[in-house]
Amino acid sequence: MYLYNTLTTKKEVFKPLKPNTVRLYSCGPTVYNYAHIGNLRTYILVDTLKRVLTSNNYKVNHVMNITDVGHLVSDADEGEDKLEKGAKREKKTVWEIAEFYTQTFKSDVSELNIIPPNKWTKATEHIKEQIELVKKLEKKGYSYESSEAVYFDTSKFPNYGNLMGNKNKNLQIGAGTKSTRRKKGIAVDTQKRNSNDFVLWFKRVGKYKDHTMHWSSPWGDGFPGWHIECSAMSMSHLGPELDIHTGGVDHIGTHHTNEIAQSESATGKKFSKYWVHGEFLTIGESAKMAKSGENFITLQTLTKKGINPLSYRYLVLGAHCRSKLQFTWESLEAAQNALKKIQEVMTMSCATKKKPKNTKSYRQEFSKAIADDLNTPQALATLWAVIKSSLPADEKQKILKDFDKVLGLNFDIALEEISV
Ligand code: AMP
Ligand code: ZN
Repeated sequence: MYLYNTLTTKKEVFKPLKPNTVRLYSCGPTVYNYAHIGNLRTYILVDTLKRVLTSNNYKVNHVMNITDVGHLVSDADEGEDKLEKGAKREKKTVWEIAEFYTQTFKSDVSELNIIPPNKWTKATEHIKEQIELVKKLEKKGYSYESSEAVYFDTSKFPNYGNLMGNKNKNLQIGAGTKSTRRKKGIAVDTQKRNSNDFVLWFKRVGKYKDHTMHWSSPWGDGFPGWHIECSAMSMSHLGPELDIHTGGVDHIGTHHTNEIAQSESATGKKFSKYWVHGEFLTIGESAKMAKSGENFITLQTLTKKGINPLSYRYLVLGAHCRSKLQFTWESLEAAQNALKKIQEVMTMSCATKKKPKNTKSYRQEFSKAIADDLNTPQALATLWAVIKSSLPADEKQKILKDFDKVLGLNFDIALEEISV
């Protein structure tokens, strides 16, 4: 099977580090609000990837984190912790916010027929591991301390920015230069050495002196930076080397670039062999769906309008994961109608006793499409070719059921519901 690897900017033959097993880590949600359907697009991609790997006989060990501390409003280590923002908005504790939105996310996952990871890992339950990792980086000379924070020194990691592609290597990836930030009125830590340096540990001082979640550490009372959680949790549950790491494209420039820097500096090993990134769901031609404003559509918004969550899954599968997908209500309605048609085929009775034709070529075509960098639009085209073919209904149903193991559209459940 082939996968597009952001790290090499090529479609590559997939070969895990150990035969037949895949260690897969996915950056999970920041639980300060409902997930929007853009976020959920990324998790449908992860699920499709898992199902394709399984159908290619790999055993997948999948870990997904829950970010419940340290993710600040700006990726450039600035602003409020998103969890604190959510708590203020709803006049609840950060712990209540985290618990509530973790549960709503898990419920979305279930409604979309996404197979849960083998392990969910919470950042706040891995503080010890994160502190240990920062200590390791400190011992190896990759970090330095200011009066406000402990930073990773990006000048010590020659491959910094490789995930962005070589031509972008010298860009200011994270925070921007000190002078541009000063001009924008952003507080600058004058002891920060390089603009791309990022926080490993925030001290509970200055603007974070009242931060609710805090733990003691060798650098004083505080809380971990966002990036360190994923390195620490993936290492403790999957080991120092991953086969595949996933996320949305917005993670490439900062979060994943920083995960690579700190993980590889700590272990001396390649952090992940493959990096798979999903493109955005957009509103209009380019506006990224974000957790603010009217742009913010949740799965609940859809179900309230009578849309089955699986119709959204169908819509997502109709676009390639590396292409932007522009959300419209019309396309969602078309997706729901298409799914209904498939379900009708699943409930057709088989009147004819025609001898079944050879169905192998459809199956081969489907397998080839999904193994070619998860080409789900092509796979759906094969599904429609089966539906339009002259095959007897029971043969169509057998093929569709097999295809559904990868598509996850629950043709089976629809069949039961309709026949009740
Ligand atoms: P967050 O909860 O903000 O940490 O994001 C969860 C996941 O959703 C991350 O992998 C993001 O990269 C991804 N994501 C954020 N916005 C979008 C979008 N509009 N379309 C697709 N994925 C997104
Ligand atoms: Zn992450």
